[in-house]
Amino acid sequence: MKAKPKVLIIYTGGTIGMIKDPVTGTLSNVDFNLISHHVPEINRLNIEIDSVSFSEPVDSSEISPDHWIEIAQTIDKNYTNYNGFVVLHGSDTMAFTAAALSFMLDGLQKPVIFTGSQLPIGVIRTDGKENLITALEIAAATNDEGKSLVTEVAVYFDYKLLRGNRCTKDSAEHFEAFRSPNYPELASAGVHLQYFEDEMYRSPSKDLSYKSEINSRIGLVKLYPGIPFGLYRHVFNRDTTDAVVLETFGAGNAPKNPEMYAILKSFIQDGGIVLNITQCSSGSVQQGLYHTSSEFNKLGVISGGDMTTEAAITKLMVLVDANNPSESIEKITENLRGERSDS
Ligand code: ASP
Repeated sequence: MKAKPKVLIIYTGGTIGMIKDPVTGTLSNVDFNLISHHVPEINRLNIEIDSVSFSEPVDSSEISPDHWIEIAQTIDKNYTNYNGFVVLHGSDTMAFTAAALSFMLDGLQKPVIFTGSQLPIGVIRTDGKENLITALEIAAATNDEGKSLVTEVAVYFDYKLLRGNRCTKDSAEHFEAFRSPNYPELASAGVHLQYFEDEMYRSPSKDLSYKSEINSRIGLVKLYPGIPFGLYRHVFNRDTTDAVVLETFGAGNAPKNPEMYAILKSFIQDGGIVLNITQCSSGSVQQGLYHTSSEFNKLGVISGGDMTTEAAITKLMVLVDANNPSESIEKITENLRGERSDS
């Protein structure tokens, strides 16, 4: 008889495992037992399930790079013993953690499926049950040769499996909380679970390793009409900052602002990196298409293509070498884990 697939649940916190404090009325996390108690159905799946939990489960607003490292370490430590991993995580910063993990883990050949919910698991109308059950099925799914169907970091929410470094939280209200604006779904759950294998990322390297150093000297500046750019001068300071994500208009455009040009120029000349992404919810930067972005090419601003903010920030945090930021430029412009379309 074929052995049951094994999946490890890594519980980090989030609404899925929260209950309401009867006195204050606020939601806070409880331990993983609450979840398994409310979803006895998982025992009927043909999957052997184990779980580990953060010592203190957190609302995902509290998630930090140290938590990313803890998740990566847990996956690395248990990698050979499990067919796949389900990470239960709050939805607020799930897209950041999923994107970060996609860059931190190299050589992944097994699924790492993030999920959570908009309503706690103890609430009758919860979306958490379906999300958890299907995430487990996806993490356990193999082809006829026994190889994992999904071999990347992905987010499962409301009947859709999305690439982790392509999605963004889009709604604080609807069960369909995530969107992948520039990349198709990897799988969809209807009567059948349908996998779109042509869309999946396959790692060229086969041995798992993970990066455990995260660069926190990364900034984010969003342009708006009339922006007094001098206000942000302290962000573009090489004493404190190695790289900045610049969220620009449309296809990567910005006002022709001499003060901004001067600040960017000296930051880049001092070895800093500026990555241009669009603040539009879909589409891509095309630096030089309009006169209002051609100056960026001359200054050495890098085009972030169609990367999400979450992917851009976490890619810089994982890749930019604090001792020599400009060495990382080639990797930043490459499509490393399917996070961008244009290179
Ligand atoms: N505030 C919660 C969190 O991100 C929301 C959720 O889980 O959906 O932890």
